[in-house]
Amino acid sequence: MQTTKTQSITGRQVTGTTTEDLLPTPSLGSPGTPIHSYYDAAGNPPSAPCLAMRPRQFQPENGKMAFLTFDDGPYPSTTPKILAILAQEKVHATFFDVGQQVELNPNLLKAEYEQGNAIGNHTYSHNMAEVYKGPEAFLSDVTKAETVIYNAIGIRPQIIRAPGGTVGNFNINYFNAVDAGGYLMEDWNVDTGDTDASLVPENQLIHNVEQQTQGKTRVVILMHDLAGKNTTIQALPVIIEMLKKQGFSFGVLGPHVRPIVFPEGLHN
Ligand SMILES: [Zn+2]
Repeated sequence: MQTTKTQSITGRQVTGTTTEDLLPTPSLGSPGTPIHSYYDAAGNPPSAPCLAMRPRQFQPENGKMAFLTFDDGPYPSTTPKILAILAQEKVHATFFDVGQQVELNPNLLKAEYEQGNAIGNHTYSHNMAEVYKGPEAFLSDVTKAETVIYNAIGIRPQIIRAPGGTVGNFNINYFNAVDAGGYLMEDWNVDTGDTDASLVPENQLIHNVEQQTQGKTRVVILMHDLAGKNTTIQALPVIIEMLKKQGFSFGVLGPHVRPIVFPEGLHN
């Protein structure tokens, strides 16, 4: 299995039909991106030369699962509206908050958390030039955000979303450092595309989710809780209703939920 696994994460053309690792693995968000394995359902980490990640235990899941995720907040103009929709729809989401924004709006973080949503770390500065200087710089920014979050709500999130996602930003050294720090990385496999332009039409966001969800039984959906992203808020109830109609249940991410990660950084 060792050899097969290595092939599964290094071979970009693997289609998901050759090893048991690949069978339950969701495809990625971008059209045409091949399917890869990160952790398998049993919690076995990916294997690659020089990659040393610990095994994990993930909770079992039944049926179709959707994980709504909101990056970059909290913001006074958007977070309360997102929370109101989630409450109205009786679903929870995962917020990957930015430390600097939490410092400005600790009560909004508190509101996210107290409503039953999961909180993840999206670094303190979200400054790509700073956080991607190297794994140490990345973790130092993460730790800074963690302190701010801890001071506001008394928890230390173990899940991290990398600014811009891991692809193009992470290499094996980052994955090893994050794992050694006890954290779990989180990318996505459905992208609403709400940062493709300053304001993407609501219908386009809905269409993107509809299209990228096809054929998947497990979706982690990228959205932004960011000032000005008003069409994301308009599209949100429609997206939730669409997923409900398709039979999805809604979950939140956490250290015991199998993550979706772009695997490209695992062979750099
Ligand atoms: Zn972000």
